[in-house]
Amino acid sequence: MSSEPSAATETGGNETEGNMNRNRDEDEAGAGDIDDVSVVGAGTMGYGIALAYATGGCEVRLYDVDDDAVERAKRNVRSGLDSLAAVGRLTETESRSVADRIGCESDFERAVAESDLVTEAVPEDVELKRETFARLDEHAPAEAILATNTSGLSITEISTAVSDPSRVVGTHWFNPAHVVPGVEVIRGERTANETIDRTTALLERIGKTPIVVERDIRGFIGNRLQLAMAYEAFSLLDRGVADAETIDRAARSTFGFRLPASGVFEKVDQSGLDVQADVTEYLLPDLDRGTDPHKVLSALVREGNLGTKTGRGIYDWSDRDLDELNAERDRELLALLDAYESNAAE
Ligand code: NAD
Repeated sequence: MSSEPSAATETGGNETEGNMNRNRDEDEAGAGDIDDVSVVGAGTMGYGIALAYATGGCEVRLYDVDDDAVERAKRNVRSGLDSLAAVGRLTETESRSVADRIGCESDFERAVAESDLVTEAVPEDVELKRETFARLDEHAPAEAILATNTSGLSITEISTAVSDPSRVVGTHWFNPAHVVPGVEVIRGERTANETIDRTTALLERIGKTPIVVERDIRGFIGNRLQLAMAYEAFSLLDRGVADAETIDRAARSTFGFRLPASGVFEKVDQSGLDVQADVTEYLLPDLDRGTDPHKVLSALVREGNLGTKTGRGIYDWSDRDLDELNAERDRELLALLDAYESNAAE
């Protein structure tokens, strides 16, 4: 997805290819050679990553071991395209050409044989990731960039499964990947500068905001911040301080409302560092600094209540259709994306 309304969107004409060629001409950082992308694992993240690359002009092959997952991914791609079209980010013609650029492939070797970049999005299990990378080492072109979408495992550890770890990089996308602008680009201990530069340039070319994380630290930046907040939220729930609706209302309407405008540190500067130091001193000892999942979380997981995918998590989703829920979430986030892009353009 282009971060700007595309020329075709503005004129209503079919200028998709022209728009993409322009993006390639403007590409000065070395991603102009990346046209073919493969995504291994077509689940929650895989379909969105495929959609983001295809919307940005790449040819994408999507592979999964599970045929049902591939069928679900096809449905999700269609629904993602509908959401983008509904807010005017794609014309109907563009939607069709994006869909045509995503090919589903059931044979691993064929799926990766001609790739310039492969993104792995299989479940978060380091051994499975290492096995997948060992297969990529064997079957993907020797010069292809090999990216992992791990949420926080060590890029360095995953990279040792291939003979040349300098081409392995973390690209940590956020769900829904075709909408959320930021993608963390994580340097493993042996990742080459060229791998970082080409990956970053590619992400910029497709309209994303790459965030280079120079140290291979578990959870990177985004998930460390996210988990710190969620841990305290679960603690408040566990201690009966407030119910989930109240905590979510507070997060959305107070500090969460402000985050897109100020981030963390601009806000702190605006409040005053003296205030920050005072609050840190008296509040930190009172925060939950445990190391285990909270009782409420463990109990729900034990009971098989895993969230929207099982119909029940913290909330009851049993009367909601999952596809509709995803479409509703995409629409809400796409409205926020407009604001993000106009801020970024200032
Ligand atoms: P998921 O379970 O929805 O999808 C994983 C897919 O991989 C499934 O379709 C499964 O059939 C497939 N798979 C399993 N073994 C495979 C193999 N050997 N080869 C090919 N496909 C295989 O998981 P997800 O939520 O999409 O997460 C994928 C990765 O992305 C994980 O590392 C996760 O931590 C990370 N991640 C997830 C989120 C999120 O919000 N879900 C966000 C950022 C990163």
